[in-house]
Amino acid sequence: MIIAPVEAIAELFGSEGARDYLGEPVTVAAHLLQAGTLAEAAGAPAPLVAAALLHDVGHLRGADPSVAEPSGRDLMAGTDNRHDARGAAWLAQWFTPAVTEPVRLHVAAKRYLCAVEPSYFGRLSEASVYTLSVQDGPMTEAQASEFGALPYAAEAVAVRRWDDRAKDPAAVTRDFGHFRPLLAGLPRA
Ligand code: FE
Repeated sequence: MIIAPVEAIAELFGSEGARDYLGEPVTVAAHLLQAGTLAEAAGAPAPLVAAALLHDVGHLRGADPSVAEPSGRDLMAGTDNRHDARGAAWLAQWFTPAVTEPVRLHVAAKRYLCAVEPSYFGRLSEASVYTLSVQDGPMTEAQASEFGALPYAAEAVAVRRWDDRAKDPAAVTRDFGHFRPLLAGLPRA
């Protein structure tokens, strides 16, 4: 049976995404809805709003039910779950690089910003500082200039900044239903 992408994503937001916390004061689903809401409020184009909304789907085991790989809980226990690459690969079933590349690069964007923006590290949440240590730490100067030249590097940095702000337990956000038409209207891979 082929499940429509929006239904598959809705299922994740409603089930596992509503339970997982990953060391932040919000669930993964609430975090993603906040990131998507911030991207939309910033006037981002639809694929970039989708990338913000979906950047952490790789934390949810349901995003890849065929593989018993680590989930977000393992990341917090010190094993890099490669949620960036796994989330992007899952989304690539349906969506174009304008959605999947910022997702794939959003952890690298954190390592990049630590290298190029001295004040950035000090603004990271405690959980993000911890996971940075599991994810190879800040980039070197050479790695940062290589990253900055990649297609979608700027979009990945934008997602990263919304990601960092999307951890407010008191934030009022759009619900998943609000984003359904936007997701359904995206060009298909
Ligand atoms: Fe995130």
